[in-house]
Amino acid sequence: MSTFSLRPHAGEAGSVNHLAVTFLVAEHINHGILLSKNTSLQYLYYLKQIGLALSPLSNNKLFLDYNKNPFPSFFKRGLNVSLSTDDPLQFHYTKEPLVEEFCVAAQVWKLSSCDMCEIARNSVLQSGFEYPFKKHFLGDSYFEHPKPQGNNIELTNVPMIRSMYRYETLCGEFKFLRDAGEMMNMLSDLSSPHSPVSNRLRSAVMGNNGSSDEKKEKEKKLLVTTSRRYFEDAARGDGDGKMDDQGCVIRCNACLLQ
Ligand SMILES: [Zn+2]
Repeated sequence: MSTFSLRPHAGEAGSVNHLAVTFLVAEHINHGILLSKNTSLQYLYYLKQIGLALSPLSNNKLFLDYNKNPFPSFFKRGLNVSLSTDDPLQFHYTKEPLVEEFCVAAQVWKLSSCDMCEIARNSVLQSGFEYPFKKHFLGDSYFEHPKPQGNNIELTNVPMIRSMYRYETLCGEFKFLRDAGEMMNMLSDLSSPHSPVSNRLRSAVMGNNGSSDEKKEKEKKLLVTTSRRYFEDAARGDGDGKMDDQGCVIRCNACLLQ
C-alpha cells in the first residue's frame, strides 16, 4: 500500500476532461458530479468502483441546484458514492456538517435506512484510515469488497441482498464487455475475406450460386442477424460465447441453417 493516497478535488465544475486524468491516477475523488455529462467516463468509474465523495449542499450553493444533483442516479446505478462536506465553514450551519449532508440527502431523496448504511459504509471504504480502523468499523474481511463476503452485516447493517445485488450487477457488466469483445473479434474476422471462419460462413449460407450483389446483400443480412442474436443472448444471459462445432464463436446463421 502506498503511503499516499491521491484523492483530488475533481469534476465539480469546469471541463469534463480532467475526470479522464483523475480516472487514470486517483484512488478516489471528491465531487465528480460532471460525470453526469459523460456517460462513457461514468461507466468507467463504475467499472473500477472509483470512490466519489459528493457534497450536494456545497454544489447547491456554488454550481448545481440540489434537485439536479446526480447523486441519487449515481447511487442507483451502483457507483461507489459517499457524502462529504467540502467546505464546512462556508456551507453548513451546525457543528456536525457531515450529519447535515446525510440528513438533507435522506429527506430530499427519500433514502432508506439500507441506503444510508450503504453510503456510510462506502464512506469508510473510501477513507484513508489505516487497516485496524477500517477493520474495527467494517469487519475483518472488508478488503474483499465488492464481493458480498466483504460485508459484515452486524457491523455495517447493509443487508446481504444489497451487497449481492451490487456485486452481481458489476459482474454482469464485465461479462457483457467480455461477450461484446468476442463479438467484435468475430465481426472483424468475418470482414476479413480470407479468414477460415469467414470462408466457412460464406459457403455454408450462400453456396456458390448467385450474383456478387446478391451475395453481398446476403452477407450484410447475415451480419446484422448474427449480431442481433448475439446481443439478445447476452441480454438473456445465455450467450455462452463458446465455439460451436462449426468453429463459430456463437450460434451463427450458418450453423442454424445446417
Ligand atoms: Zn469543492
